[in-house]
Amino acid sequence: MKKIPFLNLKPMHDSIKDQLLVEFKEVVDKNSFILGNKLKEFETAYAEFNGVKYSVGVSNGLDALFLSLKALGIGPGDEVIVPSNTYIATALAVSYTGAMPVFVEPDIHSYTLDPFKVEKAISRKTKVIIPVHLYGQACDMNIIIQIAERYSLYIVEDNAQAHGSEFCGKLTGSFGTVNGTSFYPGKNLGALGDGGAVTTNHFEIYKILKKLRNYGSGIKYYHEIIGYNMRLDELQAAFLTVKLNHLRKWIAERQSIASLYLQYLYGVGDLILPATISGATHVYHLFVIRTSYRDKLVHYLNEIGINTLIHYPIPIHLQKAYSDLGLRNGTFPISEEIAATCLSLPLWPGMQLSEVELVSSAIIDFFKKVR
Ligand SMILES: *Cc1c(COP(=O)(O)O)cnc(C)c1O
Repeated sequence: MKKIPFLNLKPMHDSIKDQLLVEFKEVVDKNSFILGNKLKEFETAYAEFNGVKYSVGVSNGLDALFLSLKALGIGPGDEVIVPSNTYIATALAVSYTGAMPVFVEPDIHSYTLDPFKVEKAISRKTKVIIPVHLYGQACDMNIIIQIAERYSLYIVEDNAQAHGSEFCGKLTGSFGTVNGTSFYPGKNLGALGDGGAVTTNHFEIYKILKKLRNYGSGIKYYHEIIGYNMRLDELQAAFLTVKLNHLRKWIAERQSIASLYLQYLYGVGDLILPATISGATHVYHLFVIRTSYRDKLVHYLNEIGINTLIHYPIPIHLQKAYSDLGLRNGTFPISEEIAATCLSLPLWPGMQLSEVELVSSAIIDFFKKVR
């Protein structure tokens, strides 16, 4: 039987190969690789795409979040609220600054931060809330903004999985004081290597970010603050500008594949299908289903050549890296339940209808056998 990978970047990249090679040649011919015009062009284009005044290209998504927090002056003694069911990078960015990540459970239907639980986690040390638009669905930003305003907290969005997503008509990555995103190759907007960006509407923060990513320097060899080397290189910026031009179309393709899955898998077995909250859009970075037969289903699909992934199998509070926090199994039951039952199905722009049908019918067959 035909094998189906979890993700296949080939159709996307084949369709723009000529443009990518033109960019590659231009950069090589010019021999300018760091902080040049390709980066400026991309930053302008990405800021425009994201409906913000400024975007700053950086090395990756983790660094984008870290630099966002640094630009706000977050450090030791501060607390930052992060979802308990996100990718570990969100929490690591907080830890890098010396601040403490404080985990808050998601809503069990949307898998995004539960705004009502956020309020309970706020202490006198809390400075920032990091909403993560997980799997591509925008968080309920109205309530999160209300809470942030009531307690004078900053919002830093983690937009790594949700380029182009919206809440009440406003793009994710444009709500927070400063926001981070990732261009890891598998993300909805991916480089051909590592990359990330920070977005903001504040000129002062923009200026700080430009220094922070480049050794604390605004003018070459003059270092005003302790900075980092966290730049986005010319080649990746050039590739990203090409890919950004196609992003809307690729998101639409993800959404139509998702609607096929939703149609085919409706009412099958004990499946819980992704639900989009009112006001939000979903750009389906991941199509995540849940079932109590998850591990058996993974095995079944794997045997017939269909690859799936789990996002994420171990919640952050139970990772060895965070064992110092002393958070035991049972501390965040919703995240633990999601980790035990979730499964991401194959999905990529250019995925064939026959492939979506094959995955769906394999899942339907599995549930006929398991019952
Ligand atoms: C991918 C991802 C990151 C980190 O991005 P990198 O570019 O891999 O560093 C951060 N947060 C979330 C939610 C992500 O999915």
